[in-house]
Amino acid sequence: MENITILGSTGSIGTQTLEVVEKISNEFRVYALCCRKNIDLLKKQIAKYKPEVVCVESFEDKKALENEFRNTKVLFGSEGILELAKDKKTDILVAATSGIVAVRAVIAAIENNIKVALANKETLVMAGEIVMKKAKQFNTPIIPIDSEHSAILQCLNTFNNPYAKRLWITASGGPFLNNTREEMKNFSVTDALNHPRWSMGKKITVDCATLVNKGLEVIEAHHLYNFNYDNIKVVIHPQSIVHSFVEYIDGSFLAQMGVPSMHIPIQYALLYPKRFEGIKTNSFCPFGKTLEFLEADFEKFPLLNLTIEAGKQGGILPAILNAANEEAVYKFLNKEIKFLDIEKIVFEQIEKAQNIINPTLDEIFEADKITRQKINLIKA
Ligand code: MG
Repeated sequence: MENITILGSTGSIGTQTLEVVEKISNEFRVYALCCRKNIDLLKKQIAKYKPEVVCVESFEDKKALENEFRNTKVLFGSEGILELAKDKKTDILVAATSGIVAVRAVIAAIENNIKVALANKETLVMAGEIVMKKAKQFNTPIIPIDSEHSAILQCLNTFNNPYAKRLWITASGGPFLNNTREEMKNFSVTDALNHPRWSMGKKITVDCATLVNKGLEVIEAHHLYNFNYDNIKVVIHPQSIVHSFVEYIDGSFLAQMGVPSMHIPIQYALLYPKRFEGIKTNSFCPFGKTLEFLEADFEKFPLLNLTIEAGKQGGILPAILNAANEEAVYKFLNKEIKFLDIEKIVFEQIEKAQNIINPTLDEIFEADKITRQKINLIKA
């Protein structure tokens, strides 16, 4: 039995991870759970999975939980998360919480040789170089949960395959694939949240509509698999059945296919390199009749290119882009700005940015903080 710790247990990936763990309960035990504010759901999870440790954001919630669950150790705040991330009783840390706190936690786990199943985007986008260097130094595996990176790992069969030439990352194209820029101008929050294939959190769903998400995934793939940006391609695949593919030097392409369910990449990350029974598909061919592959439209979705460019430049630019985008998306979700204002805000921050090459972690976090402050000073 392996002990599993989930950071972000009440979120979309966290709850699905618990569903997977339940199915393969002979392999895993829920050791610790961590969430920010969804205490009602956390209480249900404590009652059901009986973790030894939990961690919440506030001291008040910690006190209340301690009174209710006498046998559970309760930590709180970012110090609590770090303590949890270093806890040697954990065999696998699932990093499914958003934000900087996850970056520090992942680094702490790496330094303590605790295998990381990574769903948090910021870790590799903001601090990919630092994180991968540490992972190498401490020989700690980082297994991606994201469906595209999971597909690539499955096609590469290892982290360093000398015969692999290019990575092809598929994108559904989001809800606005067939709309013009003119139409996109007036799209509402409801339109943007109407993702055709995947059910995910709100922020990432908007990132799929702008294709920022795909740019961020290119940056992650660059760090995870040590591929040059020129050898990572984006291809639109509206059916979301092929989750990515790898091109080999002899002209072969290996693709990973599956129904669009996060259960598959989550289970793969937890068990890697083993496999276990999972989603059952009954029909003769569960993938429909047609699979399309289209070129990405960089003009219609300029943030895709900007994100990849920020990755190429490196330094603190990916952190600035990530922060600017996140703040802009929250403004859009709060109906303070229009859909296309997201890209306006992000472009502005990148154009004004002063890059720092080989930044320290503190410099990266500072860039994140300052960018967010600047954007929140702008009145819509
Ligand atoms: Mg993805």
